[in-house]
Amino acid sequence: MRIVLIGPPGAGKGTQAAILREKLDVPHISTGDLFREHVSRRTALGRTAQRYLDTGGLVPDDLTGDMVRERLAEPDARHGFLLDGFPRTVHQAHELAAVLDVMGSTLDAVLEFTAPEEEVVARLLNRGRPDDTEDVIRHRQQVYRSRTAPLLAHYSDILVTVPATGPVEEIASRALAGLTDRGARLGG
Ligand code: AMP
Repeated sequence: MRIVLIGPPGAGKGTQAAILREKLDVPHISTGDLFREHVSRRTALGRTAQRYLDTGGLVPDDLTGDMVRERLAEPDARHGFLLDGFPRTVHQAHELAAVLDVMGSTLDAVLEFTAPEEEVVARLLNRGRPDDTEDVIRHRQQVYRSRTAPLLAHYSDILVTVPATGPVEEIASRALAGLTDRGARLGG
């Protein structure tokens, strides 16, 4: 299955992806993780990306798109993936569609994880990543609302919305049930 995970920072996409990848047997591809790897290896991309990660802004679409294109070309992603943190803009969504088109495939579903803003902010303040300071967290929430949330309308045909509050395993069950339900409605 080819699935995109969308939700505000702190909604638990990474946590859910770690569970769902086992159940669905597809790789978890997180653009945030890929950028953090580049930063820690001090590659040219990492040096450019760092300032965006530090302030919570989006890394420019061309750099992000190239990195994703390369990752999706790896053999483990051929039969499916859980994309976490990409696309984050409508432009990136078009880019993803173009990459998949070349591979002769399309997305099966977009999982949207929802949670109240005060709860996701509180979760991030507890997590303590370098970009989890209150100012940067608030900025990332604002970037989500203005740049990423428009994707929900873009993907309305394949959207599966999952309330992301409560126990982690329960949220994963809701996500899997939502995917099954969508598959059934498509007759597959
Ligand atoms: P995340 O791990 O998803 O919270 O992402 C951490 C940071 O990586 C974000 O705040 C952005 O600076 C950058 N980033 C991750 N994914 C993307 C993307 N698709 N487009 C642009 N920047 C991204």
